[in-house]
Amino acid sequence: MNVIENVSGPVFRPGDDGYGAELAGYQVAHPHRPDLVVGATSVADVEAAVRHSADHGLPMAVENSGHGRREPLAGGVLISTRRMGGVRIDPRARVARVEAGTRWAPVVAAAAEHGLAPPSGSSPEAGVVGYTLGGGIGVLARDLGWASDRVRSIDLVTADGPRHVTADSDPGLFATLRGAGAGIGVVTAMEIELAPVSRIYGGTLSVAGEHVRDLLAAYRDWTAGLPDGLTSSIGALPYPDLPMVPEHLRGRYVAQVRIAWTGSPAEGERLVAPLRAAVPTTGALGELPYTQAATIFNEPAEPHPYTGTNAMLNALDPAVADAALDIAGPDAPVMCVLSVRHLGGALARPPAAPDAVAHRDAPYLLTVLSLVDGTEKPARLHQELMDRVAPWTLGRNPNFSFGARARS
Ligand SMILES: Cc1cc2nc3c(=O)[nH]c(=O)nc-3n(C[C@H](O)[C@H](O)[C@H](O)COP(=O)(O)OP(=O)(O)OC[C@H]3O[C@@H](n4cnc5c(N)ncnc54)[C@H](O)[C@@H]3O)c2cc1C
Repeated sequence: MNVIENVSGPVFRPGDDGYGAELAGYQVAHPHRPDLVVGATSVADVEAAVRHSADHGLPMAVENSGHGRREPLAGGVLISTRRMGGVRIDPRARVARVEAGTRWAPVVAAAAEHGLAPPSGSSPEAGVVGYTLGGGIGVLARDLGWASDRVRSIDLVTADGPRHVTADSDPGLFATLRGAGAGIGVVTAMEIELAPVSRIYGGTLSVAGEHVRDLLAAYRDWTAGLPDGLTSSIGALPYPDLPMVPEHLRGRYVAQVRIAWTGSPAEGERLVAPLRAAVPTTGALGELPYTQAATIFNEPAEPHPYTGTNAMLNALDPAVADAALDIAGPDAPVMCVLSVRHLGGALARPPAAPDAVAHRDAPYLLTVLSLVDGTEKPARLHQELMDRVAPWTLGRNPNFSFGARARS
């Protein structure tokens, strides 16, 4: 491996102190194993790493949080963006400028100081850039649209050098970078439009396993008539019988309905009432600051090995719900986390500038996720589910295809 020049951030090679720590991310399965890791601290560092890999014909990858890592790199150059975590809010223009390694949590916090909210998702620790390159379906997705619709500009480094990309400067590249997932160059910064949201009404309602089939039927009817300001989803899984799991979930199959509404609490309560009347639920909804929106999902904080896939659906047909529960429900031979997100609303509107989001008119997203157990069982089960729901499937969303060999 040749020496890399003009890098001010740390550089790691296999065997160096810090090499393993730099590669650790949220996804534990299939870590990258590069010959060189550049801990980029600036655009100049990214340029040097991109030039080095181009000059020597080396494969290259980028990593921030590791939430969305796919095929692991064997050899070559990994650009680690974690040190580039800058966030700048322009409250008058309602725009956040974020650097390559920024995660959602600091953007949510900085925007909230001005009564604003970004199009952030269920995990505050996911990286803004990786999430937004894949479209980005947020906690308020039906109200705010795709995160990628809100991108004003992208700073990008390719083998040709750095460039500032906007809808006017380079419409083709601007479109390709918004929604198809990663793949072109290294983004060093993005400008993203914020929304005037500081408080929401919502929370999580739990539904016991024996009512989950009824819940999916009720959810289909309920979501058919909702205003765009109400974004919701269902997550269902068998909770392990472990001491760290809350008592009411331990050892049980439970579905969680996650609700976020941007109108008044009274109107939110009225909108949710038909769903609560249709199936027995526990849990309370209420007003909360947007800074606590991710608590509605309560994603696990601990890194773990996972694999998963998804289907953008044209309908939540009863046969889809049956397939999901029969194949990947409580009796599945492999633990599966099932999720149905209600899309539509602002997500279905055409973007202001052309983009690469596929199937933006899909009304639902079905996802399935399992722990990697060293066998082919999770992948086989996920494939069986995808095959059964194929008649209603429009395609896949890049953000919800997890693990090596994930299909997008
Ligand atoms: C627990 C959890 C919750 C999630 N919730 C949501 C959600 O609510 N909505 C949603 O839409 N998605 C969600 N996702 C999916 C998430 O948006 C994707 O996994 C996304 O790829 C994560 O980006 P990252 O930078 O954090 O991850 P990384 O694994 O660090 O990066 C993912 C990929 O993005 C690319 N990339 C990252 N940074 C750059 C860069 N600077 N330049 C070029 N390419 C880059 C790289 O190809 C990299 O392989 C969730 C994922 C998890 C694990």
